[in-house]
Amino acid sequence: MKALIVDDAKVVRVTLARMMGQLGYEAVKAEDGRQALDAMAEHPDVDVVMLDWNMPVMNGYDFLVALRGMAQHATHPKVIMVTTETGMPSMLKALAAGADEYIMKPFDQDMVAGKLAMVGLEAAG
Ligand SMILES: [Mg+2]
Repeated sequence: MKALIVDDAKVVRVTLARMMGQLGYEAVKAEDGRQALDAMAEHPDVDVVMLDWNMPVMNGYDFLVALRGMAQHATHPKVIMVTTETGMPSMLKALAAGADEYIMKPFDQDMVAGKLAMVGLEAAG
């Protein structure tokens, strides 16, 4: 199982990569939406994207729209927003654009494992 972790904050990338590693996932990291699109081209077998919203260059929402616009990624991989943008309008906007779940920062490993289960992904370890 492979996870793409997209966040402009290094501490979040490192923390999420460690948590996903403990859940049995190989972690690929990107710092913005543009890098994430490049990562998806390199790793089309990614099972889940853990996606920040607010990032420079290309934000998480614009990445999500671009990803779901690709025929091979219309429903795969799963996308879990990991963000402080937790107002209902933002959540509904992301879900309408193809996000599968939402995690509010700050988060812990139990929350991550719970959301993975909610989108049908078991801990792989
Ligand atoms: Mg950010």
